[in-house]
Amino acid sequence: MLLKADLHVHSTYSDGKASPQEILYTARERSLHVVAITDHDTFAGSVVARRYSNTAQDLPLVILGVEVRCDEGDILLYCEREVDFPRRVDALIEKAHAENCLVVPAHPYDIMRLGIGELVLSYNDWDAIEVWNASATRGANLKAIKAAQVLGKPGLANSDAHIPEEIGLAYTYIEVEDLTLDSVMEAIRRGRVKPVYRSRPLNVTLKRVFWSIKRSARSSTRS
Ligand SMILES: [Zn+2]
Repeated sequence: MLLKADLHVHSTYSDGKASPQEILYTARERSLHVVAITDHDTFAGSVVARRYSNTAQDLPLVILGVEVRCDEGDILLYCEREVDFPRRVDALIEKAHAENCLVVPAHPYDIMRLGIGELVLSYNDWDAIEVWNASATRGANLKAIKAAQVLGKPGLANSDAHIPEEIGLAYTYIEVEDLTLDSVMEAIRRGRVKPVYRSRPLNVTLKRVFWSIKRSARSSTRS
């Protein structure tokens, strides 16, 4: 069966607008079968989402995730359970594989948003590359597609949603035998994926910009 997955979404546990529950309902509306909530430096949003998805019918499968701010840039980590994450890329890759997690550089060529840049080519043990990020520039995404080809790695397309309107904007088809987390993780490792490249429409970009301004104004009045 072919599953539709968005594996890069932010919730209220970092700088996203939607709660984990809202993300799951929106993802279901958009016909997503699998979601990874990947808040900055915390698994908390995805842990809440998984707990919630297990109690309700027909909600998407939740992969535990985190977007780790490494010294070198942002890296996505997908795991079966919460793990500690080192802040250096080489140590993170080693830890990820020891824990059976997947390790994927986020928007590698979007330097403004802390992609790791050309360093992506210095490591050959990524499980996949985020080749399309709906929030990144087309130029940055094209370079990421090339890097995945050079390294011979599977490519993922994700929304990097911070507001509900962005969820599922870009997504990846994953071919699995059955609808289980194990099968999804294994299918990504084996490259049974097809990223769908879609960019963010202008009206959604404006909403996202508005949300970022509102959020930073809110956090500066708090501090
Ligand atoms: Zn992100």
